[in-house]
Amino acid sequence: MMIVVMKSDATVKQTSTVIKKIQELGFEPHLSKGEEKTIVGMVGSGKKVEPEIFMAIPGVDSVVPILKPFKLASREFQKRPTIIPFNGFTIGGDEVIVMAGPCSVESREQTLEAADAVVKAGAKVLRGGAYKPRTSPYSFQGLGEEGLKILKEASDRTGLAIVTEVMSPDKVELVAKYADILQIGARNMQNYSLLEAVGKSTRPVLLKRGMMSTIEELLMAAEYILANGNPNVMLCERGIRTFEKYTRNTLDISAVPIIKQLSHLPVIIDPSHASGKRELVDPMSKCAIAAGADGLIIEVHPHPEEALSDGAQSLHPEEFDKLMIGLKTIAAAVNKKI
Ligand code: PEP
Ligand code: MN
Repeated sequence: MMIVVMKSDATVKQTSTVIKKIQELGFEPHLSKGEEKTIVGMVGSGKKVEPEIFMAIPGVDSVVPILKPFKLASREFQKRPTIIPFNGFTIGGDEVIVMAGPCSVESREQTLEAADAVVKAGAKVLRGGAYKPRTSPYSFQGLGEEGLKILKEASDRTGLAIVTEVMSPDKVELVAKYADILQIGARNMQNYSLLEAVGKSTRPVLLKRGMMSTIEELLMAAEYILANGNPNVMLCERGIRTFEKYTRNTLDISAVPIIKQLSHLPVIIDPSHASGKRELVDPMSKCAIAAGADGLIIEVHPHPEEALSDGAQSLHPEEFDKLMIGLKTIAAAVNKKI
């Protein structure tokens, strides 16, 4: 892949000439408008293209090959951070966004109770799985569309946006009808047909890092979504597998500054799945914000001891209240609002 950097005074017409040329050559153009410069990326596979073809077009400043395996996700393609707009807030800007709620949508009462509690404490997004990827086929699998309807009701009532998992390409349209953010679970990070399907959706995507995936593999998975036309991707570190047994997974906090260096995409930390223990959620959340994370996704359940999934890592509403207050100081220390 190459990127064609336009001169700062290049006209719209000159940029469209570049776009047409890319299409003629059988590649996909991707436009990135920066403050001073417009960049056109060309994505595709197969044939080699000589940079001179573009240098001859008026308005072109330079042609730069992107050597990293991920292209559209890279800082080279886009210097400015991706800021994803929602109704009343953004993700990726100077605000830390907290998404919170139960692991699974279990019932209307449980979900509404959770939503009321987390909105009061300052969360902006309600989480909750309606389609659950469970290790055992005998465990609770989620309420399906019924669960999506409950989430929608909770959203209408509280104003919270909704993030919920989609597990298969054929469900993308249905989940997108109810959800504001499509979650791709850790187990599906490399499900390429699912990545292509959410890439064609207009909903922002929360892409979770596979439990045995490298940061580069995570960025390559994001590349699938971006290359299919969806620019609004958030990357979520949710812990990786190591030999350590005191935690469910090991939170790779260094993923935050590393991804920030390599990519323009927002980074979200999931301290709940990363640790598996509710008493670790507070300190892990604090270090995530200190490290520069753009947001957190935290499991909160009105009655964790009765939860159908992940009760041990779910916070009680009072614990979540306390956490949100504590996070304000950390956010202020890194010049962010919460
Ligand atoms: C979840 O968020 O409930 C979940 C299943 O997470 P992960 O895909 O990270 O295991
Ligand atoms: Mn869970």
